[in-house]
Amino acid sequence: MKKIFIIIVLLLNLFSFDVNSCKSQNYVKPLDGRLLLSGNFCELRSNHFHGGLDLRTGIVGKSVYAPTDGYVCRIKISRSGYGYAIYLKHSDGRISAYGHLQRYRKDIDRWVKNKQYEMQEFEVDLYLDSNIFPVKKGELIAYSGNSGYSFGPHVHFEIRNENDEPLNPQFFYNVQDDLPPKIKTIAVYPASDKSYVNNEHRSITIPVSGEYVANEITVHGAIYFGIEAYDYLNYINSRNGIYSVKLFVDNKLILHTENRKFSYEHGRDINSMIDYKRRKTTNMRIQHSYIAPNNELYQYQKSENQGIIEFYDNKVHKVKYVVADIKGNQASVSFRVKSTSEDKDFGIKRDSSVLFYYDRENNFSQPGISIHFPEKTLFENMFFDFKTFGGKKYAPMYKIHDEFVALKNYYLISISLAGVANSLKEKAVVVRKNFENKTETYCGEINGDYLSIWTRSFGFYSIAVDTLPPVVTPQNIPTVANKKISKHLKVRATDNLSGIKNWAGFVNGQWVIVEYNKKNNEFTYYFDDKAKHGQNKFKLMIYDGVNNLTIYETGFYVH
Ligand SMILES: [Zn+2]
Repeated sequence: MKKIFIIIVLLLNLFSFDVNSCKSQNYVKPLDGRLLLSGNFCELRSNHFHGGLDLRTGIVGKSVYAPTDGYVCRIKISRSGYGYAIYLKHSDGRISAYGHLQRYRKDIDRWVKNKQYEMQEFEVDLYLDSNIFPVKKGELIAYSGNSGYSFGPHVHFEIRNENDEPLNPQFFYNVQDDLPPKIKTIAVYPASDKSYVNNEHRSITIPVSGEYVANEITVHGAIYFGIEAYDYLNYINSRNGIYSVKLFVDNKLILHTENRKFSYEHGRDINSMIDYKRRKTTNMRIQHSYIAPNNELYQYQKSENQGIIEFYDNKVHKVKYVVADIKGNQASVSFRVKSTSEDKDFGIKRDSSVLFYYDRENNFSQPGISIHFPEKTLFENMFFDFKTFGGKKYAPMYKIHDEFVALKNYYLISISLAGVANSLKEKAVVVRKNFENKTETYCGEINGDYLSIWTRSFGFYSIAVDTLPPVVTPQNIPTVANKKISKHLKVRATDNLSGIKNWAGFVNGQWVIVEYNKKNNEFTYYFDDKAKHGQNKFKLMIYDGVNNLTIYETGFYVH
């Protein structure tokens, strides 16, 4: 008992250092004016929790300020993700991060460009010592933008603790919110081969329009529940995530989650928390009130039997969900389930020779393919499903388990290249087809006569060959005739299969910074001192994932 008490005290202390002590810190806002959240903390995104707040700016070029004293500790520029990003390390040990920027403050910008020229790379990830750019509370650091994977001007803003774990920034800033969340859907799931919902061994969803759901649901055996709910805020028309969920069965608290902080290390565990199949196949974002054995998320404040409830007693039970935003505005829904003792046989047969354990290493092989799951790849134990289909050009199509089952970590697939001519082996890629017949390509590593990839998806896998180089389409090439003065040159480039790996741009034979934005396939050279007045030569070399090369050359004119 004493031990437990000490652990609780320790946990409380850790937590208060993370969050509770922060209000007194009095951070200043990173932007002028009212903070408008077009996205909030831990919102359920595809394959990740949203790590911070999305601050809507309406336009690009707004000043971004340091919330408190510290220094620029990291600058990262990438073709996708956060685009132009900056990180500050603060004197209180926390880290703040800003993404989708247009550019950095002038002196920082110059320093970064020098580094890019030195390294001859557009994409850089630079860690800075404290003496290079110290910043004071409220000091300008950058300008807002729409770079990287952003579809509307905003700043992605994060606050992390000293272990680099994102904290809910709304503990630091007061954002007005008088609107309650809305519950959209409830869901009921069978949790064992023998349990059922409304006489069938499958989950159901019911739309919610008020505080009560009239349907009485029949349940038998091990069952868990799920909920889809969103929050709304004053001054902005945006559907955000909720802060807390409480599930009660017969007035007993079964599961309680709160979005105070999370760890990037466990970020992928979101796919175990949500209804992964419905997320993939519909727009529903249902949060399970069930914790899989290998789900390590911090959000669970309390759980009874991991959220699983056993129903065998022929009685009616009251189920209630209460959700809240961070300001305490609440919404609730109540419904009844009729528990039954009647057993049913659904004829489910399992082959125990392919029972894979989540806490062990698992291996599987068949002629032409071998699969390796390191320990803790899976969220829970499963009966592995595998089939081989013929008829493909370079290798069979392999069905590797079920694409609607989520994985926690990467596993290794090695597929034989015996069906690929020697001259083409270097151009071989692994392709995955999903339920919509969309193809995802993986560039692998050749090991002997096998091509190996690490992936976090199940589904249909085979081999394809990519012999086609990227295709370049000019967009904006300033010429002598075009008197409309332009300060940049732009082309688009796409690749059919393996995707664009790297590129290099040259002006009059000298390497220059060519920006690549993956979301619109644009390559842009903003004129700098490498372009002279008058006629210039531009050359762009673009490689795809298997090193097929396209060289694009053009003249351009600087007026
Ligand atoms: Zn964001």
